[in-house]
Amino acid sequence: MRKRYFIITIIFLFLTSAAFPQGNAENIFIITTDGFRWQEMFGGMDSVIANQQKFNQGDSSNIFKKYWADDADARRKKLLPFIWNTIGVKGQLYGNRYFENKVDNANPFWFSYPGYNEIFCGYADTAINTNDYPNNPNTTVLEFFNHQPKYKNKVAAFAAWEAFNRILNEPRCGFPVVAAYDATGGEAPNAKEQLLNAMLDDTYRPWGESECLDVFTHYAALEYLKKERPKILYISYGETDEWAHAGKYKNYLDAANRFDKWLDDIWSFIQHTPEYKDRTALFITTDHGRGDIDKSKWTDHGSSVPDAHEIWFGVVGPGVSAKGEMKNNMQVYQNQFAQTIASLAGLHFTANQPVAEAIKEIK
Ligand SMILES: [Zn+2]
Repeated sequence: MRKRYFIITIIFLFLTSAAFPQGNAENIFIITTDGFRWQEMFGGMDSVIANQQKFNQGDSSNIFKKYWADDADARRKKLLPFIWNTIGVKGQLYGNRYFENKVDNANPFWFSYPGYNEIFCGYADTAINTNDYPNNPNTTVLEFFNHQPKYKNKVAAFAAWEAFNRILNEPRCGFPVVAAYDATGGEAPNAKEQLLNAMLDDTYRPWGESECLDVFTHYAALEYLKKERPKILYISYGETDEWAHAGKYKNYLDAANRFDKWLDDIWSFIQHTPEYKDRTALFITTDHGRGDIDKSKWTDHGSSVPDAHEIWFGVVGPGVSAKGEMKNNMQVYQNQFAQTIASLAGLHFTANQPVAEAIKEIK
């Protein structure tokens, strides 16, 4: 009898470990830049767009100098040096459709709230069909983490866009959501946070009250990281989407280039801080794609814009092998990200809504 129980236990352990791959990451940082296209992620600056006067803001010589190279590999490294020299070497990058490596929205809308809900809840909820949708009824993987003893009060989110108060359900979620013009630093902001808050009060507001410039979100998040040492951190940048809507390709490229530089800053903090070094996974992605047809549709997205469901993601950290750019023919969906993020920490995300399975290629 004992031997039989032993065998059953071994079989059970084998099955559960196969179903829930044990991740090695103790900390997970999720960082998104809104509506950034896979075309620039994998191909760098698009010269057809950059050459058009209506898009280049009269500054084509500068952007060509800064971001152009004849070879696509050299070109994307000029735009996104950290992503290509670090995540593209030590981690994995998905979504290069030139190799039929496909990552897509599962939701049919191809705009922000449905996309972020899909990223964090693992579910393409068709009831969420507007950016004005109220507090998210679904449970995010961030909230799930905050309910685990190891991660309780070790979760935080910083976002340029105010909608994240609703997307992450700030009244319910139990962790801080610092969005748009929310002050940072809580009850006792330090000197840096006080300065950030004063600047945030007085800054130019290109998008009214709904969204701040990314620089405020970045430095608020970075200071929180140094001060509070969260284990699960989400940072959401928005300028790539805003400048694209405005048709300002130069600003769009500069915003993407800054996103890359800030990833580098965060990664170097991780690698120089013992509690994070070699224990932290970075997951980067976007909420939706944009158009590409005739190079006029790059500014827009939504279900009426062909190809705006085409996205990308990258991951680096413990338990993630150095496969680099994925060049195999495969198809995954954004609703798989939430379970994938949980699996990086060896957890299995459960919620009231259905949650899609983790991406099995990541190991
Ligand atoms: Zn948009």
